[in-house]
Amino acid sequence: MKKFVLAVVCAQLLQPWLVSAQQQTTSGVKTDISVQTSVDPDFTARQLQLQQARQQGDLALADALATQYLTAAEQQADLLQMGQAYHELGNNAMARNDYPLAKQHLEQAVSLLTQNNEQNGDAKPLAAALRRLGMVYRYQSDYSTALDYVYRAMQIYQLLQDQAEIANSYGSVGTILEKMGQYEAALQAHQQELEYYARQGKSSDMASVLFNLANLNHKLGDPAKALQYYLQVMQLDLASGDKRNIAYSHNKLAFLYTDLGQLDKAGEHIRQALQLFAEIGAKRDLDWARTVEAKLALANGKPQQARQILDAVIQRATERQYLSLLVDAYELAATVALQQQDDAAAMVYINAGIAQAKQNHEQGREAKLQQMRVTLLLKKDDAPAALAALLAQKQLDDEIFNSKRAAAIAAIQAQTDYTSQQYQIERLQHEKDLQQARLEQQKLTRNFWIYGLLAGFVLLISLYRRYLQHRQNLALEHQVNVRTAELQQKNTELALAYQQLETISLTDKLTGLSNRHFLESHIDKELELCRRQWHDWQQHHNRLEAADRVSMPEHSELAVFLIDLDHFKQLNDQHGHHAGDDVLRQVKQRMQQVFRQTDYLVRWGGEEFVVVARQINRAEASQLASRFVTQVAATPFMLAAQQPLAVTCSVGFACYPLPLDKDPGRHFETLLKIADCCLYAAKHSGRNGWAGLTDISPDLPLLPAHLCAEKLQSWQQQGLLQLVHSFARLQWPPLARQ
Ligand code: GH3
Ligand code: MG
Ligand code: MG
Repeated sequence: MKKFVLAVVCAQLLQPWLVSAQQQTTSGVKTDISVQTSVDPDFTARQLQLQQARQQGDLALADALATQYLTAAEQQADLLQMGQAYHELGNNAMARNDYPLAKQHLEQAVSLLTQNNEQNGDAKPLAAALRRLGMVYRYQSDYSTALDYVYRAMQIYQLLQDQAEIANSYGSVGTILEKMGQYEAALQAHQQELEYYARQGKSSDMASVLFNLANLNHKLGDPAKALQYYLQVMQLDLASGDKRNIAYSHNKLAFLYTDLGQLDKAGEHIRQALQLFAEIGAKRDLDWARTVEAKLALANGKPQQARQILDAVIQRATERQYLSLLVDAYELAATVALQQQDDAAAMVYINAGIAQAKQNHEQGREAKLQQMRVTLLLKKDDAPAALAALLAQKQLDDEIFNSKRAAAIAAIQAQTDYTSQQYQIERLQHEKDLQQARLEQQKLTRNFWIYGLLAGFVLLISLYRRYLQHRQNLALEHQVNVRTAELQQKNTELALAYQQLETISLTDKLTGLSNRHFLESHIDKELELCRRQWHDWQQHHNRLEAADRVSMPEHSELAVFLIDLDHFKQLNDQHGHHAGDDVLRQVKQRMQQVFRQTDYLVRWGGEEFVVVARQINRAEASQLASRFVTQVAATPFMLAAQQPLAVTCSVGFACYPLPLDKDPGRHFETLLKIADCCLYAAKHSGRNGWAGLTDISPDLPLLPAHLCAEKLQSWQQQGLLQLVHSFARLQWPPLARQ
């Protein structure tokens, strides 16, 4: 995103510019020659290799390598690398001082790198190419265009916040302003550049600025200051160990010391410069140093030596097309020839120099050579030619003045453009920051709402889930309640059913005897039958005369026996409940052995049994009781483990009919009560025996339902009861039971 914004801003700022150029060459000015390094390791290696070849002056190899680089980049359709390749080709052309070709390559580089920036948002290589192209225009003396390019590069560096490159660009501006003759402004630019490097502690870059500052001061006519700077540069160069730069510094010092008349020092420095340039194989620079050597030779009063050196330089420079150096060499050679009074040779050098300067578009130097020509022609008394030369020089001076003025205006314009664009960039940057902040705020607000809504939604869902859960719980609770109620209902029904089942069941489960319910449902009919027979007999009996009267018909009475096993609790305790059950089951057989099948044999509850012996004579009741007591006691009961066990029982009984309460529905209850009282007396009299009421005296009133043992006891003692028993003496308990 950031890259994209940058690419768009760069595209906006760099859109419309087309330039034309004049050609002019220069030499001896130290400028950076490095190109930004490529990211691809393969291309990086190639780039280093070709840069090395160029630095060593092997431009053929550097060109071959750059062409290979371009082919490789084109094969990969890599815009960045293609742009870099053209940049390198441009640098090669510059090293050869072939500025039109350099311009062509660098324009191609700028075009490719602009595309690359638009596509990939990589503005830095573009800025480097722009600055380089600016330097080409500087060498061609088109300073306004040069400044335009350099400022455009600076705008990109400004956007990238690349302080180092901004400083480098100030350096470029300084050298252009220097060429424009605006030395003060150039000094200012270099000063800014220097401040930056000093702050950052970049000594190698500082050397380059100091070198330019020294140059400027030399030109401004302050050789002492220039010397001071050059010496500082030399210190830095020696510290960095860069031979080429050290050689440059030696060369410059030699030049300056020559001007200052310190020829020994100059000699020492030029010797070292020549040696170093030869060592690194920098052929052009070697010849440039030789012109300084020639200058020194002249100063040393050795013009002949100087001429020899210069002639050799001119020859090689012509062959190798060191065009700017060639003008320097012609000018110096002319000066030497003039000193040698060899005016003809001087004129040849001057004319060649003027031609070359014209070709190089180096108007300033052309003007200087024209001036030399005027002087020489006047010396030769060739006034018309001198006048013509003077006019040419005047025209050149005017042109130079005008172009300088135009360039100055252009420089101001470029500076103004730069400043306003810089302001615009800051504004854009500020707006971008504001927009970013607004976006962040919006994002924050949006996120707040989104998260808020989300949280609300989650809350609603959880509330709704809780509500559903609650409802489900209620429903479940309701269901549970319903089921529980149903279960309770079923349990009640079941209990009732069991109760009913028990009620309707007429058989005792343990013994297989009839149960209480059975007897209660049959006994009333039985008693009624018995009563009716007795009643019938009595009515008949009363009607008959005394002599005719007969006794009760045989087997028309009944007896209710209540049987209770003795010390049964003890039996259970000693032999276990199962043994007790076994005994209870065996009681049935013993009952069957004594009583008839038609009798009611009933398990009344626990270890109590009731037998209703039907159709008997009441006199038989005591026999039956006796037989049963014997039947139980005589033979031991057999437990499950074949263990014999002696069991006894006690019996109480009552015979029927009896004169009982008027309500026949309660007769059985009264009979049972009488039998129970008798049983109780039997127990108290020693157990394993029996007692029963067979009849009562006619003197007694009807026996009430609420009979008590006490009453029976007193009636017995009064002789009002026919009470029979198996004991020697029937004992009643001290307190009768209710
Ligand atoms: P008593 O001679 O005075 O009658 O003494 P007892 O121990 O027989 O009298 P009690 O009525 O105090 O005890 C009756 C015991 O009968 C209590 C109970 O444990 C036992 N019993 C009642 N029903 C059953 C039953 O179905 N099986 C068994 N094994 N024991 C029973
Ligand atoms: Mg009992
Ligand atoms: Mg008992």
